[in-house]
Amino acid sequence: MNTKLFLTAATMAVATLTSAIEAVDYLECPVNGELYIPGSFDGRVFYCDGVNGKHLGEDIKLLEKTPIKSIGNGDLIIYQKDGAYPYGFGELYAIILHDLGREYEFKDALGNKVKTRYIKSIYGHIRNYADRSDKVGTKLKWKLNSTDVQPVKRGEVIGYVNNDAENGDGKEHLHAGIALSKNVGAPFGYDNGSQGKNFAAMSEVIKIVSTPIVGQRSSAFVSDTMSQAFINAFNRHCPKIGWPVNYVHKWTSTFGYRVYLQDFQGDMDANAEHFGWNGQTALIYNNINDGFRSPAAYLVREGMWEYYRNNDGPAKFGEPFTEEVTGLRYATNKQPYRAGDAVRTGDTITVQKFNLVKDGYGNQGRTLVYNNNLDNFSI
Ligand SMILES: [Zn+2]
Repeated sequence: MNTKLFLTAATMAVATLTSAIEAVDYLECPVNGELYIPGSFDGRVFYCDGVNGKHLGEDIKLLEKTPIKSIGNGDLIIYQKDGAYPYGFGELYAIILHDLGREYEFKDALGNKVKTRYIKSIYGHIRNYADRSDKVGTKLKWKLNSTDVQPVKRGEVIGYVNNDAENGDGKEHLHAGIALSKNVGAPFGYDNGSQGKNFAAMSEVIKIVSTPIVGQRSSAFVSDTMSQAFINAFNRHCPKIGWPVNYVHKWTSTFGYRVYLQDFQGDMDANAEHFGWNGQTALIYNNINDGFRSPAAYLVREGMWEYYRNNDGPAKFGEPFTEEVTGLRYATNKQPYRAGDAVRTGDTITVQKFNLVKDGYGNQGRTLVYNNNLDNFSI
């Protein structure tokens, strides 16, 4: 049990900030998105009840040695053994201060709205070397117990999941926390009665800070219409599709046809409708403006997206111009689309329309039909 997850100010070496922090452009998971399941360790979600008060982070079940990455650019300001060692955060925990570049609005543990430009990300139960045999050998470059400013980039490894004997808290896992101000001090693990207003769930904070990259584009893209289309599509499907992966990019198929798309990390909630894992969900931009349609971005996910990109989708189908419709059941074996013999009475199908093969009026495209029962596609 984690009986002493309290840190006192006296045990902390707090770095003095002498230079500007590099601002965050967006945040990403400290581990691969598929692995970041809040509460997967011991059911400890953000602000659940614990033996020492309410839990101020999300506990993620992970294998020992799993690399832990900084969620964003910032300064490593605490990198040391927990003062409560062998309990608490154990052999090593890290805190990184982030400048988000502007104010964002978050929800604290009590449900109140908090606006802040600065947050701290907290990583507990880690160590600074991958293998225990390397304890006196290869170590990460970060200085322990240092008061120097140590700039960190998003995605840089700042530690590894520690083993149960040294992590201060039983089986291997990561404690991931967010403090909502640069002034928040200990305790970082459990609420002693007044800390709830200073903390938020890391998974929520990452989503909020990453949202603006929907529609953000490199200098090659000049269309504000496209930006807005991506933002609209994201808002229609948020939060199910998770957070965006990188920026909007131009995706070229084998035969040179192009679409603009943004990949999404996919659904993080095992209980929610499955929206596909990392890279299996994308918003695709459609620039067509023919009196029937306006430029818009549409979701292509799971099987559809897999099929689309593996079958030269832009060349064969063009861009989508409807959202997919899922779960249609056919009471008769009448074929509503040119669907070959794939659809039978009672089959459940998913349908999405695309641009290519229009009629003379420009309002009919190619339809991709996915038969969920047979797991096959027809056009
Ligand atoms: Zn925890």
